Amino acid sequence: MSTIAKAYAAPAAGADLIETTIERREVGPKDVLIEIKFAGICHSDIHTVRGDWGPQSYPLAPGHEIAGIVAAVGSEVTKHAVGDRVGVGCMVNSCGSCVNCKNGDEQYCLEGMVGTYGATDRDGTITQGGYSTHVVVTEDFVLTIPEGIDLDVAAPLLCAGITTFSPLQHWGAGPGTKVAVIGLGGLGHMAVKLARAMGAEVTVLSQSLKKREDGLRLGADHYYATSEESTFSELAGSLDLIINTVSAPIDVSAFLGLLTVGGTMVNVGAPAEPLPVQAMALIGGRRSFAGSMIGGIAQTQQMLDFCAEHGIGAEIEVIEAARINEAYERVLASDVRYRFVVDISTLA
Ligand code: NAP
Ligand code: ZN
Ligand code: ZN
Repeated sequence: MSTIAKAYAAPAAGADLIETTIERREVGPKDVLIEIKFAGICHSDIHTVRGDWGPQSYPLAPGHEIAGIVAAVGSEVTKHAVGDRVGVGCMVNSCGSCVNCKNGDEQYCLEGMVGTYGATDRDGTITQGGYSTHVVVTEDFVLTIPEGIDLDVAAPLLCAGITTFSPLQHWGAGPGTKVAVIGLGGLGHMAVKLARAMGAEVTVLSQSLKKREDGLRLGADHYYATSEESTFSELAGSLDLIINTVSAPIDVSAFLGLLTVGGTMVNVGAPAEPLPVQAMALIGGRRSFAGSMIGGIAQTQQMLDFCAEHGIGAEIEVIEAARINEAYERVLASDVRYRFVVDISTLA
C-alpha cells in the first residue's frame, strides 16, 4: 500500500511553495518508510525550485536534509529497524555497479545518481523531497543518525555537513594546514566547525564583519571581510585550502591569489552563472581550482559518526512549514544563522 504524505511543494518555477499531498511508493522488500521529523532548507532547494539549474517538473517538493524515524521496513531490509533514528541526504539511488558506485562515490555514478527530489528514480517515478511527512527510500541510501546528535541539528549534516566534510577530508585539512571558508551560511558554518574539529587553522572570508563573533565562536581562528581590499594583500599566498560556499559568482582569481604554492580552491557553491578564472592566477603558484559534490554514502556515515564524536551539529533556526517561503527570502538575503530547519510536525 502506498502512503499519502503531506508536503510543501512549488506548483511552478518561481512560485511560492504551498501545502499539498504527494504519494509515496509502496514499501518494497529493500525499502524503508521514514516518518520525517525535520528537514533543512538548503540553498540548492531554492536554486532548483526557481529553475536556476534548468527546467524541472512541477509540483516539486524540495528538501534533501532529512532526519526522522523508521516507521516500516521491507522484508529484506537488514540495516535499519522500526524506531531507528535515520537520515537521508541528496541522493536516494544510483546504479550500484559502475566504477564510481563501487568506489563509494555514488554521487558520481556513471548512470547518474538519483537526486532526492526532481529526479527520475530507477522505477521511472519522479522523486519528491523532505518537506514532507513521509518518504520511502531504498535502505542503502538511508543513514544512521548516531545517539548524541538531536534530529533537528542533525538534518543539515545530510547536505551541508557532507558537502564540506568531503573536500576537507579529500584535500587533507588537519593539523598544520590553513583552511579558509568563503561565505558563512549553511555550508560555510559547517565547514568552519568541521575544519576546526579536524585540527586545521581556520579563516572565514565573509562579505562583512557582521557575523565575526559567531564565526569565532563556531571555531574560526581568523575572520576577514572580503569587502576590504586589505584582506587580499594581508592573506596573499598564505592559505593551503579554500572552500568556496558562495551561491553567487565571485572573483575567483582574486581568491586564488590567497593560496600557497600548490594550494587548492574547491568550489562547492553552485551559482547558475559561469565563474571566469585568470590562467595566471593558477599558473603563478601551481594552484588548483577544483569542485566537489556532496559525498558518498559511506563517507556520509563517517561524517555523522565524526560529528557525534566531536559534539557537532548545525546552528539552526527551527521554523514551521508555513514559513518556508519567508525563509527562502531570508536565505537569498544572506540572513540565515545558519540553517533553517522545518519542523515537520507543523505539516502533519
Ligand atoms: P547559504 O546559506 O545562502 O550561504 C551562502 C553564503 O554565501 C551566504 O551566507 C553569504 O555569506 C555568501 N554570499 C551570498 N551571496 C553572496 C554574494 N553575492 N557575494 C559574496 N558572498 C555571498 O547557502 P548554502 O545552503 O550554504 O549553499 C551555498 C551554495 O552551495 C549554493 O550555491 C548551493 O546550491 C551550493 N551547494 C552545493 C553542494 C555541492 O554538492 N557542491 C551541496 C549543497 C549546496 P556571508 O554573508 O558570510 O558573505
Ligand atoms: Zn543541499
Ligand atoms: Zn553507478
